[in-house]
Amino acid sequence: MPYQRIILAVDLTDQSILVANKAAAMCKAFDGQLTIIHVIESLNYAYGGDVPIDVSDIQEQLHTTATSRMQVLVDQLEVPVHSTIVTQGGIESEIHRVAEESSADLIVVGSHGRHGLALLLGSTANGVLHGAPCDVLAVRVKSES
Ligand code: AMP
Repeated sequence: MPYQRIILAVDLTDQSILVANKAAAMCKAFDGQLTIIHVIESLNYAYGGDVPIDVSDIQEQLHTTATSRMQVLVDQLEVPVHSTIVTQGGIESEIHRVAEESSADLIVVGSHGRHGLALLLGSTANGVLHGAPCDVLAVRVKSES
C-alpha cells in the first residue's frame, strides 16, 4: 500500500477538522498509521533569537492549550490515532524532522489556515512542500476572505 505512515500537520484552528478528516480517510483507505503534529512557534525563533524577556511561562501555557485542543481534535476523528506530537520550533523544519524520524510516506497539510504572519511569510503548505522527505498532500481549505 502506498501510504502507511501518515503525518497530519494541524494549526489547531477550527479548520483543522476538515484537513484531519481527509487524512483520516487516507488512513482508512490505505490501512495506515496516523500521527498528528502541532508545532508551537518558539518566540525566539519567530523573533530571530532576539527576545529580551523570559517567555518560558508563556510557552508552557501555549503547550497546555495546544495539548488539550489536540485531544478535542483526536476525539472527533473516526480512525485510531497512532500518536500525537506537540512540539516547539520552526513549523516546517519540525514537520520535516518528525516526518524523517518516523519514516513517514505522506504529510497532510491544509492549503490555508491561519492569517497574519503566515501570509507575510508565505503559506506553510508551500514551506512544507519544499524539502519534504516524502509526498505532501495539501487539502484545499476555503479562505474566508
Ligand atoms: P497557513 O500557512 O498558516 O495558512 O497553514 C496552512 C496549513 O499548514 C495548516 O492547515 C496546517 O496543516 C499547517 N500548519 C500551519 N501552522 C501549523 C502549526 N503551527 N503546526 C502544524 N501545522 C501547521
